[in-house]
Amino acid sequence: MKLYNTMTKRKEEFVPITPGKISMYVCGPTVYNLIHIGNARPMIVFDTARRYFEYKGYEVNYVSNFTDVDDKIIKKANEEGVTAEEISSRYIAECKKDMEAMNVRPATTHPLATNEIPGMIEMITKLIEQGHAYEVNGTVYFRTRSFPEYGKLSHKNLDDLRSGFRDLKVSGEDQKEDPLDFVLWKPKKEGEPYWDAPWSQGRPGWHIECSVMAKHYLGETIDIHAGGEDLIFPHHENEIAQSECCNGAPFAHYWLHNAFLNIDNRKMSKSLGNFFTVREIGEQYDLMVLRMFMLSAHYRSPLNFSREIMESAKNSLERIVTAADRLNDLIAAAQDQDLTEDEKKKLEEMKPYRLKFEQAMDDDLNTADALAAVFELVRFANVEVSEGASRLFAEMVKQELLLLCDILGLTVERRQETLDEEIEAKIAERQEARKAKDFARADAIRDELLAKGIILEDTREGVKWKRA
Ligand code: AMP
Ligand code: ZN
Repeated sequence: MKLYNTMTKRKEEFVPITPGKISMYVCGPTVYNLIHIGNARPMIVFDTARRYFEYKGYEVNYVSNFTDVDDKIIKKANEEGVTAEEISSRYIAECKKDMEAMNVRPATTHPLATNEIPGMIEMITKLIEQGHAYEVNGTVYFRTRSFPEYGKLSHKNLDDLRSGFRDLKVSGEDQKEDPLDFVLWKPKKEGEPYWDAPWSQGRPGWHIECSVMAKHYLGETIDIHAGGEDLIFPHHENEIAQSECCNGAPFAHYWLHNAFLNIDNRKMSKSLGNFFTVREIGEQYDLMVLRMFMLSAHYRSPLNFSREIMESAKNSLERIVTAADRLNDLIAAAQDQDLTEDEKKKLEEMKPYRLKFEQAMDDDLNTADALAAVFELVRFANVEVSEGASRLFAEMVKQELLLLCDILGLTVERRQETLDEEIEAKIAERQEARKAKDFARADAIRDELLAKGIILEDTREGVKWKRA
């Protein structure tokens, strides 16, 4: 399998450190708001990578952090008059709900920066001892000139960057030795959360968090480090500098970066205000449509969000769902009989779709081409499985389709039946609430169902329901 490595700017054959195992760190969101669909792109594409690695038989240790201490979190907490911890835990819970709705599996570990402060103090102390970091008035900076390889990931011209920053320095109150030096630890300001450290009561810089969490959960050298391409510089460059100086070992073998999700050809971002939250999109579409939309492009290609492309993703998904549905009906009506010679031949003819799928995914996770193979399989299923097919044959075609979709994290079986059960359970709960004269609860359940397009009617024969 080949993966494009930002470090070498080439597609490279993937060779894990330990045969059969993959250690993978994906930078997670800063939790001060609901995530937007730009943040969802790395979640979906790297979850798909993980699923594919597991399909290939690897045991994947997948770590993705939540940055739960940050200026923006503190600002939001002050605005609401609550603690920063309250803000971060609220939005971590919301983020996890969105992940589940997008069928993004929980990481093996989701570390929180605030739980890892001792490790950060330890790493910073070591960097100071080694001469890679220095303290000025309670702030600790990383000394970028002490790491000759600084800049190796982003391939930037550091002299240009330095002179760009120098102009800023003239006007600023900068106390750094070099404009490229970055903060490892900073003193608290009034009203901010803080931890005791040898240099000041304060908090860590953003970059050190990921170096420490990656080391804690995955070791000094990891197979894959991933995130959005805006993280290449300075975040990942700085992580490399800290980790490699402290540990004396290469930090990550493969650096994977997704391109931006754009809107009107500009990066979707909180600061530009041009975003849709996953929650908003979830009100208009099944989030499997969003997943389909994300996977319809290669992860390193920019993807422009538009209603047209979402509608086309919706139709594409529907095509697969309809095919799976049809197979289910055929299976239900089919006879138990041995595979015919013709069916055996057709099963042989089905094999190339899987091969094509694998070739696409082996080529730097080309989900767009992998989906093309899935659609060929859909066409095959629609044409080759018909009434009179043996149950085993229809079952095998369906399993093949579900397997490939599952690798992409696409749920394609209609959720009708479970939904009906859910509705019945809610109706029973509402009846209980009414019996207990808890009418507020009963109304809340009615509204909740209405939001899902389920209308309740109280009739003399009991409660009836229908879809809007
Ligand atoms: P943040 O919360 O801004 O640190 O972002 C969390 C993750 O989402 C990082 O990996 C970012 O690179 C990624 N990200 C943010 N905005 C976008 C976007 N518009 N398109 C793709 N990835 C993004
Ligand atoms: Zn990070």
